[in-house]
Amino acid sequence: MHFATKAIHQGQEPDPFTGAIMTPIYQTATYVQPAPGQPKGFSYSRTANPTRQALEKNLAPLENAKYALTFASGLAAINNIMNIFKAGDHIISLDDPYGGTYRIFTRLYQNYNLEFSFVDTSNLENIKRAIKSNTKLLWLETPSNPLLKITDIKSTVTLAKKHNLIVVVDNTFATPYLQLPLELGADIVIHSTTKYLGGHSDLIGGALVLNDDKLYEQLKFFQNAVGAIPGPLDCFLVLRGIKTLAVRMERHCQNARAVAEFLIKHPKVEKVYYPGLSSHSGYQIAKKQMSDFGAMLSFEPKCSDEQAKKIVASTKIFSLAESLGCVRSLINHPATMTHASIPPEVRKQIGISDRLIRLSVGIEDIRDLIDDLEQAL
Ligand SMILES: *Cc1c(COP(=O)(O)O)cnc(C)c1O
Repeated sequence: MHFATKAIHQGQEPDPFTGAIMTPIYQTATYVQPAPGQPKGFSYSRTANPTRQALEKNLAPLENAKYALTFASGLAAINNIMNIFKAGDHIISLDDPYGGTYRIFTRLYQNYNLEFSFVDTSNLENIKRAIKSNTKLLWLETPSNPLLKITDIKSTVTLAKKHNLIVVVDNTFATPYLQLPLELGADIVIHSTTKYLGGHSDLIGGALVLNDDKLYEQLKFFQNAVGAIPGPLDCFLVLRGIKTLAVRMERHCQNARAVAEFLIKHPKVEKVYYPGLSSHSGYQIAKKQMSDFGAMLSFEPKCSDEQAKKIVASTKIFSLAESLGCVRSLINHPATMTHASIPPEVRKQIGISDRLIRLSVGIEDIRDLIDDLEQAL
């Protein structure tokens, strides 16, 4: 079965009681048991809920994986992974992770004596140099945020496996439609389903997808023990979003390419960060490990920081908002919005200037998107 068909059919048998073709929203906390200790498959909705189960059975095959676990947010999914580690463990992360990932690593887990190194993972040598005897985890995001840096998943995994590291790939930007990190050897994929999987900016959710039986048992234990689970309505909405993921991604990518080509030729634009441009440092690797280049891009206009803030406030179709992956186009000023929690000196060091503007290109008519950017610039 191919991706677009799996997205619509996997894990979604018609309701056995009514024949309802779409998975019902099982809005229930508990389940009546015919005899003590003999539930009919479900006993309490923190542990398992049929709508959530349908979503998990849908998500796993999209990454060609055995298991998926879903959470109340992407960060809850990230937190669930971090529960595996103990004081004294060392973790290597890319140096421009999602702002919330950086925040939970440095402001929460560092206090529990987990040790972090942030390196530019697009260069294998940097990872090699950072590995220590207590290194347990390698955290990747590719394309990264907001500079769209590309890490070669396959060769990075080969290196990590020599040192028995768990490799996590945040696949939120690419989605399984464009990139399959588990097939390239990664151990766990994490998603913020808030973004492309949900696709409509109407829910917050997260997911982990993996193949390893032991890791799955451990992560499933934490999912229930910690309890940061998604409600059944949110699970229903993600399932609904996923049904159109394939067609949405086609249009997202097509529009983003047109926007990148418009910006790179624009006299008021200095630099465009988009992995689909042959001038981008990660272009060759992106071409190898992704089926298309996604719909996130950033650019630096030729202007002052203040003028850059004016540009993001003067678009009419692109909405000034955090988040991404929505049908509706969004514009964002990382330095004051999504990446404000990263200290200014760290932002500078990793190349996020105060002029940088990030776009999440939606699926509107491309002519309206180009006109809007033209008038704002
Ligand atoms: C949004 C996002 C997250 C966090 O997900 P939430 O659903 O907001 O908690 C993690 N990683 C990436 C790449 C994201 O874009």
